Amino acid sequence: MDTEIKRGKLILIFAPTGSGKSVLINHIREAYPELTFLTSCTTREPRPGHENSSYTFLSVEDFKARIEAGEFLEWAEFGGNFYGTLKTEAENALGAGKVVIKEMDAQGVELVRAIMPPEELVVIYIDAGSWEELERRVRARAPITEEELASRKLRYVEELKMKEGADFVIHNLPGELESAKKEFEGVVGRILNVVRG
Ligand code: 5GP
Repeated sequence: MDTEIKRGKLILIFAPTGSGKSVLINHIREAYPELTFLTSCTTREPRPGHENSSYTFLSVEDFKARIEAGEFLEWAEFGGNFYGTLKTEAENALGAGKVVIKEMDAQGVELVRAIMPPEELVVIYIDAGSWEELERRVRARAPITEEELASRKLRYVEELKMKEGADFVIHNLPGELESAKKEFEGVVGRILNVVRG
């Protein structure tokens, strides 16, 4: 008898900053309770009034010590802060056959692509329209310096290139949140069906 547990799949959510990904990710969390959401370690400050449970807030010193210890599956510096995914957290869930969701920046996606078997990986890009639209959302969300905004714009231009390499693109254009939720639900539902066999 084959008692080996079939390995799960890692869904990477990739979205330009401020693209409304949190709303979509919260929606998918409610729609499919069987999904496993990985946390991000980060050195950035918690945002007031936000649900911060998907982040573990670390000091720069602690983060660097964990890099040295090889604890991260991937890590990246984004907007002057460090972000990373813990190897053990990802591996435990995938080994248990779970469908795992993690959002990350472009550098993280490329790193994971380089080390994970392609059949275990799905990359979803959330397309939220023009830079002007994104800038408006980012400014409305929390105080941000002009310097940080400028570096986010450079990043946004880079991020657009990721769209071509994605397995799926979800269209979250202004005023179309409900259809974006449905689109996202459809894609994740199909992935779950494949893993469930
Ligand atoms: P924010 O500070 O706005 O929550 O996230 C900033 C950026 O960091 C976003 O592009 C987000 O996808 C990315 N990010 C969040 N967690 C991780 C992570 O664990 N690894 C990487 N590489 N990027 C992350």
